Amino acid sequence: MAIVLDGNRIAGEIRAEVASEVKSSANAGMRPGLAVILAGHNPASEIYVRGKVKSCEEVGIYSEKLTPPDTISTQELLELVLQLNRRDEIDGILVQLPLPPHVDSKRILMAVDPAKDVDGFHPVNVGFLSTQRPGLVPCTPAGIMEILKRSHIAVAGQEAVVVGRSDIVGKPVAMLLINANATVTVCHSKTRDLREVCRRADILVAAIGRAGMITRDFVKPGATIIDVGMNKVTDSTEFGRLFAGDARRAENFRTKGSTLVGDVHPQVAEVAGAITPVPGGVGPLTIAMLMANTVKAAKMRRGAQTPALPAEHARSA
Ligand code: NAP
Repeated sequence: MAIVLDGNRIAGEIRAEVASEVKSSANAGMRPGLAVILAGHNPASEIYVRGKVKSCEEVGIYSEKLTPPDTISTQELLELVLQLNRRDEIDGILVQLPLPPHVDSKRILMAVDPAKDVDGFHPVNVGFLSTQRPGLVPCTPAGIMEILKRSHIAVAGQEAVVVGRSDIVGKPVAMLLINANATVTVCHSKTRDLREVCRRADILVAAIGRAGMITRDFVKPGATIIDVGMNKVTDSTEFGRLFAGDARRAENFRTKGSTLVGDVHPQVAEVAGAITPVPGGVGPLTIAMLMANTVKAAKMRRGAQTPALPAEHARSA
């Protein structure tokens, strides 16, 4: 059976490091600050934002939640972002997506000062990442690299296959793996012989959004599997395909009417060398890296030395 890569434990380590950085910054008279914009009412977004604000409190980061109504115009939202850009005590600006449908999301994201772009989505930060300059790296991909590093999984010289090419996960994690000297293949919905390509992987990253799509025949025995997917399963036939014989899950499914599953079929744990669980794998790293990015942004922007915090993935020799 594969070693389970415990994302909760690793995220806890990172949060503790961030908390200690925040404490020493505070002693030097600087408290990092994060502003989160949550426009309108989206139940899932409200839960995510609550988690982010709570995490800030735990590590000592100042946080501010701005909740304009869903009738806010693109122009008004732009003005809000520009105000935050100008405020010195705000180091990170996070615009929770999705924005109300009439708002021009791209314009809003482009307006965020790249030095405060703790999501790492601004093209300036994308460019920094691809040219290996210091910048802010998207949280989920940065968290994946921390899982690999802190689990002592070699990356340099390894075959890495990333399934998914989104701007949020697939592309940036591929770039980080290249920067860490892996040989990287990026797959997507038009890839031919996906199964065969995946079987080449020493490190397989699944960021697809399809419940249990990566089955054991996609996996080279002993490979490291990073499962980014978070899919809610409500259909009992689908549940049976994924969790046949798992009495505890079945009981839970019966009570709740749903269960969370990654993009990787649970049986893959029988052939893989190491695997991230869902939940409790990549997920917890995302918020931990947001905290790390906020402290990093504060230090970079306010001219202090770049901290020895995570999310710095320079090419190793
Ligand atoms: P996305 O923007 O929908 O991208 C999905 C990618 O998967 C696309 O590149 C798509 O290919 C590819 N794909 C879809 N079906 C495929 C198939 N049959 N074969 C091969 N490739 C296929 O999704 P995302 O934002 O990257 O998120 C991916 C998953 O990660 C989702 O489940 C999401 O909930 C989860 N996620 C988790 C976290 C976390 O913190 N744990 C954070 C972010 C996302 P095309 O480009 O050709 O369409």
